[in-house]
Amino acid sequence: MQIFPFFFAYVKNFYYFCGVKGFLLSLFFPRTCPMCGAYAGEHALRGQICSACDRSLPRTEQAELRQNITEMTLRDIRRLDRAAAFLFYEKNHPVQQLIHKMKYADQPMIGYYLGRQAALEFQYAEFFEGIDLIIPMPLHPRRMRERGYNQSEYIARGISEVTGIPLDLTHVTRVRNTPKQALQEGAERTTNVKEAFAVNHPEQLYHKHILIVDDLVTTGETMKACISAMRYVRDAKFSVFALCKAR
Ligand SMILES: [Zn+2]
Repeated sequence: MQIFPFFFAYVKNFYYFCGVKGFLLSLFFPRTCPMCGAYAGEHALRGQICSACDRSLPRTEQAELRQNITEMTLRDIRRLDRAAAFLFYEKNHPVQQLIHKMKYADQPMIGYYLGRQAALEFQYAEFFEGIDLIIPMPLHPRRMRERGYNQSEYIARGISEVTGIPLDLTHVTRVRNTPKQALQEGAERTTNVKEAFAVNHPEQLYHKHILIVDDLVTTGETMKACISAMRYVRDAKFSVFALCKAR
């Protein structure tokens, strides 16, 4: 008979602590839209943008468009099957801010959220059909230490979660730290990035269809160098997913 008051006290305290915990969590990890700052709701994923901002994202609609601008930028790559970007990257557009936060302001969950969102939309165009594994564009270990995370890996994790395609973080590594791409010009950029990647155990990648995931494709030189490092991988095919394509 005496158990009921305890039971109700327990339930009350449970909710009380949930409330405190929720409040403390919201102080450290506010569930706000990273684009406009509006409250995104208690159950929003971290990195999730609000529906108004989502509608304003400059989508490329490239998933089912062959010979789109991303694919054309990368057309020199041998054995390229398909390539598409989710968003257009425009200077002075809120997307620029969003990508900046994802890369440099310790908010990699933005990448995870956008990767999931892109995968949900690209799935309808069967963009991921036949792909065996996902390799995020690797960061050089030194840059990884500075930043603490690889934003492309977060994007790839979002895609992997939706599609069920496994992530591969071991076979391709960055062996040369290249200066910030955006600050450089044409030919110089190519020489800097060449031979920047190494492939471990290439035989384990034989006959695979590999999706390379990157945050931003501009001239495509980094992507070309990365896939070129896998030129001795027998009978492999490559596809590219970029979160953004610079116009
Ligand atoms: Zn918003």
